[in-house]
Amino acid sequence: MDDGEWMDRGKCRDLPPSTFFPSDGVGVEVARRICADCPVKGPCLEYALENRIDHGVWGGTSERERRRIMRRRRRETTRSEG
Ligand code: SF4
Repeated sequence: MDDGEWMDRGKCRDLPPSTFFPSDGVGVEVARRICADCPVKGPCLEYALENRIDHGVWGGTSERERRRIMRRRRRETTRSEG
C-alpha cells in the first residue's frame, strides 16, 4: 500500500511544484532530468498511474508516456484474462 512516505524522499521536495507541471516540451525535459536519478521514481510513477493523475511529470514520465503505459497495461490485463 502506498502511504506517501516516498514523497519525503523525492528529489523534487525542495523544488517549486511548477517545475513538474511544465507548459512545454522543454519544461518536460527539465523535469524528467531531475526525476532521472530520483530514489523514489518507481513509487512516484505508480502513484500517478493508480490515481490517474493526468497532469505533470511524475516518476520521470510525461502525461503522454503515462497514457501509453496505462494503455499497455490495460491490453496486458485483457490478454491475460481472455
Ligand atoms: S520521480 Fe520526479 S516527480 Fe517523482 S518524486 Fe522524484 S523528482 Fe519528484
